[in-house]
Amino acid sequence: MVQLCALASGSNGNCYYVGNEHEAVLIDMGLSHRQLTQRLRDAGLSIRKVKALFISHEHTDHIKGMRIVADKSGIEAYATKLTYEKARKDFRSAKVNFFAVGESISVGSIKVHAFGKLHDAADPVGFRVEIEGKHIAVITDLGTACEKIREQLKNCEAVFLETNYEHNLLMGGKYPIHLKKRISSDYGHLSNQQAFELVQSLNGSPLKTIFLSHISADNNRVELAMNTFKPFENSHQLIATSRYAASQVIEL
Ligand SMILES: [Zn+2]
Ligand SMILES: [Zn+2]
Repeated sequence: MVQLCALASGSNGNCYYVGNEHEAVLIDMGLSHRQLTQRLRDAGLSIRKVKALFISHEHTDHIKGMRIVADKSGIEAYATKLTYEKARKDFRSAKVNFFAVGESISVGSIKVHAFGKLHDAADPVGFRVEIEGKHIAVITDLGTACEKIREQLKNCEAVFLETNYEHNLLMGGKYPIHLKKRISSDYGHLSNQQAFELVQSLNGSPLKTIFLSHISADNNRVELAMNTFKPFENSHQLIATSRYAASQVIEL
């Protein structure tokens, strides 16, 4: 049985759990060690099963807990060399294993495939985790869903997918124009509508479970993201994620 949980999702911290009865990996480490252990406990999960921490890119919300979590838990980190170099201080004493975009990394019986994505970071990657014959993608922090992303998603049963902003809220909101441009650019974040269109284009894929992720506190609301995905409410399991608490644990 595969267990999935968004332990934290949003611009102040991201951490995604994918595991089975014996082992697990975490994608990104935007939680403190205390928050991490607390949220794992809340979700009925254990840090003892976690065998590796994969880092998608160097932005603070994806890496700020890395150093202490690695120190306290001894769990090894995985990142691209460029990401590591951009955020060396966040890794500090952690044992870091390097991978390149396009590579697949084995952690016990779990295989993690890293693929490139468009985002304003040094070497941003998305991940497809292969576990017990199932495929789960973690794709947040991307400006546009290019063909490569679609290719990675087409065999996935579940995805943690960015639904960052509602276009009208962002454009009519208080953010300065340069920030609005950055977020909505091809190197920024994915809107509710863009995420919806991505899923729509996967027609015929085994995808059944969607975690609506990295929801902006200023430019979005869970209800708006859910509402955009309403056409999928009978065919898919839609799970809201939060920056404040662990999501529901989904078993595949
Ligand atoms: Zn982020
Ligand atoms: Zn980012």
